[in-house]
Amino acid sequence: MKQVFDESRRQLLKKVALGTVLIPIAVRTASAADLPLVSTDDPTAKALKYVEDVSKATAAKPGSKCANCALYQGAAGTAQAACLLFPGKAVKAGGWCSSWTPKPQK
Ligand code: SF4
Repeated sequence: MKQVFDESRRQLLKKVALGTVLIPIAVRTASAADLPLVSTDDPTAKALKYVEDVSKATAAKPGSKCANCALYQGAAGTAQAACLLFPGKAVKAGGWCSSWTPKPQK
């Protein structure tokens, strides 16, 4: 009987531990996807010459865009994600600003 109780308790503890790990990840993922896009009228965006489409940025180095910037917080393939320069906002993966910094090579 004690062995059955121990097994149930072990299962419960595993589920609690798994939930403790997965819930914050799910919340973080959802909140990053739900961030509002930064407006090009935002004062910081204007100061940094942020554009949603890098093809419209005359000063952008060829190949540079938010998706390959070190400050972009999204995973590869995301359409938009947070940027460290715009707390609480998202930028387009295909966007660009004058603070573009290449991601370190792995
Ligand atoms: S700092 Fe990088 S990710 Fe952020 S807006 Fe500028 S280019 Fe895009």
